This record gives sequence, C-alpha cells and structure tokens, in this order.
Amino acid sequence: MGQKSVFVRGDTSRVNDCPFCQRIASGRELSSTTALSAALIDIYPVSEDHTLVVPRRHVARVEDLEDDEWSDLFGLVRDITRKVAAGDGVDGVNVGFNSGAAAGQTVDHAHIHVIPRVFGDVDDPRGGVRWVLPESADYWSQK
Ligand code: 5GP
Ligand code: ZN
Repeated sequence: MGQKSVFVRGDTSRVNDCPFCQRIASGRELSSTTALSAALIDIYPVSEDHTLVVPRRHVARVEDLEDDEWSDLFGLVRDITRKVAAGDGVDGVNVGFNSGAAAGQTVDHAHIHVIPRVFGDVDDPRGGVRWVLPESADYWSQK
C-alpha cells in the first residue's frame, strides 16, 4: 500500500482548521496512539473519560478510510473500550460514530465516540444509541 497523504484531496486549509489534526500534530493530551490512529479525551465530554478515537489522516467520514486505517482504528476502539469498561465505577460503555451532518457529525474529521456509562446517569438507559431517533427509540412499550 502506498504512503498516505494526511491531506484530503489537497485541501490543506481543512487540516489546519481541524481540532483533531491540531491535537495530533501537537502530540499533547493523546491518551493512546497507534501507527494510524490516536485516542483523545473529548474536550466537551458527556461523561467522565469520554474518548474520541480518530484516524491520524484527515478523512472526513469513517467510510472513506482505507482498509488498514479501518482495522487500526477499530483495534484502538477495542482497546479503549476495554480500558474504559474496566474503570472504577463504570457499568457500561456506548460506542458509536456519527457519519455525515444528517447523522449528527459536527467535526469534519472521522471519529468514534467511546462513552463510559454508570447506572443512574439517566433515569432509564434502555435503548442507548437508538435515541438518535427519539420517536422510535422506545420499542419495548410497543410490544
Ligand atoms: P460529532 O458531533 O462530530 O460526532 O462529535 C464531535 C465531538 O468533538 C464532540 O463530542 C465534541 O465535544 C468534540 N469536540 C469539538 N471540538 C473539539 C476540540 O477542539 N477538541 C476535542 N478534543 N474535541 C472536540
Ligand atoms: Zn483533521
């Protein structure tokens, strides 16, 4: 496989403006790294230790990753999920990505959220990621 550019279709302005590229380039506050990926703490965490796992290369959407980047990224997601799940007081973990603005993506550098959960952090956690579409999230009341 040829050497990959860190740039997307030659558009360097996006990379320079990208908070994840800046963070990777600075090398600061990365909780874990691999050859092709990095894990960083979300600066607006929804729970303690909310972590983002990102490809080192600036790729807007996860489905645009090359196969080796995909494998590397999800290997790191596995490792971070295990680490987070073993954390003190952690009862569960949500893992997910928003791909595209329609799906809620707000930072244009592909990333996977790893979100630790504890019993009681919301009144009723049933459904988890199904709540991206609240109208149909609750199926158990329909059974
Ligand atoms: P998205 O909505 O694209 O799936 O998630 C973007 C995530 O990036 C959010 O959880 C948000 O808190 C996080 N975020 C936004 N700006 C920054 C930043 O400058 N640095 C870091 N580490 N995270 C950021
Ligand atoms: Zn970027």
